[in-house]
Amino acid sequence: MKRRWWLTAAAAVLLAAAVERVLAQPARPASPRRLALVGGMLLDGYDAPPLHHAAVLIEGDRIVRVGPAASTPVPEGYTVIDTSGRTMMPGLIELHAHLVLLGHGNYATWFPWIDRNGGDPMLRTVMTTAAAQLLDAGITSAVDLGAPLEASLAVRRDIDTGKARGPRMLMSGPWITRTPAVFPESYQIAVDSPEAAARAVTHLADAGVDVIKAHSGLRREDYVAIAETAHRRGLRVHAHVYAEHDVRNALETGIDVLQHAGSAGTAPPYSAALITDIANAGRPVVITAAHRSWIYPDTAAFPERLQDPALARSIPPAIWREIQDSTTAWRALPYFARTDREVLYRDRGVRQFIESGAVLGMGTDSGTPLNFHTEALWREAKVHADLGMSPMRVISALTRVGATVLGRQRDLGTIEPGKLADVIVLQGNPLFDVTALAHVETVVKGGVIEKRPATGQEVRR
Ligand SMILES: [Zn+2]
Ligand SMILES: [Zn+2]
Repeated sequence: MKRRWWLTAAAAVLLAAAVERVLAQPARPASPRRLALVGGMLLDGYDAPPLHHAAVLIEGDRIVRVGPAASTPVPEGYTVIDTSGRTMMPGLIELHAHLVLLGHGNYATWFPWIDRNGGDPMLRTVMTTAAAQLLDAGITSAVDLGAPLEASLAVRRDIDTGKARGPRMLMSGPWITRTPAVFPESYQIAVDSPEAAARAVTHLADAGVDVIKAHSGLRREDYVAIAETAHRRGLRVHAHVYAEHDVRNALETGIDVLQHAGSAGTAPPYSAALITDIANAGRPVVITAAHRSWIYPDTAAFPERLQDPALARSIPPAIWREIQDSTTAWRALPYFARTDREVLYRDRGVRQFIESGAVLGMGTDSGTPLNFHTEALWREAKVHADLGMSPMRVISALTRVGATVLGRQRDLGTIEPGKLADVIVLQGNPLFDVTALAHVETVVKGGVIEKRPATGQEVRR
């Protein structure tokens, strides 16, 4: 009998997919179906006064009830986490991370080191290490802006299926550029025309990326082609822009998120007209302020941060040794070559956006040299607060505004019934001092307890 080969092939593919689904079942114990966090102060993500001694009830992956603990009884069958004396708030949203980087000092030696030490499997180890660092820092959603396509999709799937720990990841895969950077070829798609840029977007969208990253050297007509193609596919475009004319081109061609704008780079502060136009357009800006121009002087003041034992514990020993080696002469690293000028402009660059009332999300370029995933986001929060952003606005930027920037505000960013149950518990009051964000004890993502305090305040009822 003559078989239809394609039917057999299709059946084989389906079977393989089914097997993979079974194999991909989460290894960790099933999380309680019903979970209550009870007793602490609640910041719900809105610019509203906190709710003291609150209770948050979770069923499955969603929040079902929120209120004062005294009038929100916990029904039978719930696992209760006692959050007394602490702060509860929505999981943090990091709008600019690099899972392929772990704060190693030098791109020129980091990627060859990965290649010499296993290549793709080592790259996956690096990426899942970074993802776990982000999650333990209280980040429940993150955007990765630049990694090889296959590895990006594989790591996202491993996190989604519970094989790896990490935030819900929105992956860009390789970025699109006219001027390729020192990164290997698989991290970037070089284009030389708007048509090529549109084809690159289509290729990435077909593969299943979540966002598009438009990198450097792109022209106005490239942005037009990228934005139009991406929007047709329901994807938002994040542009890497520093210079005033690049920011203006990205703004006027419908690029969705202006990444790095306001981070001094080598550009002096922007014209008042540009800032006003960005603010009036309501176009989100992610400054990524704290890398370089804050990291450098902060490290000079406290080089001990490079040997932080908690950081060391979060990275496999062989990788940790390589990172340590890369930072012995950190002041001379090429990444910090222009830091003097950046430090000169850094405060003005950030302040002009804060004072303009522009929509500001929070992202950090985490993973870049000495900018560790374990702390990048609270460092970014501190910079914004130090330069005049109210702590409440900082908290909103880290949560509700971040969700809006991603277009995921229906599911993420606030603590209220119906939203996905992404809740963190931290020591101290971030409205008094935003660096309380460095002390995240408990992380719940989609109703699953991803991190618990060593002391264990969990009670089963
Ligand atoms: Zn960038
Ligand atoms: Zn970046």
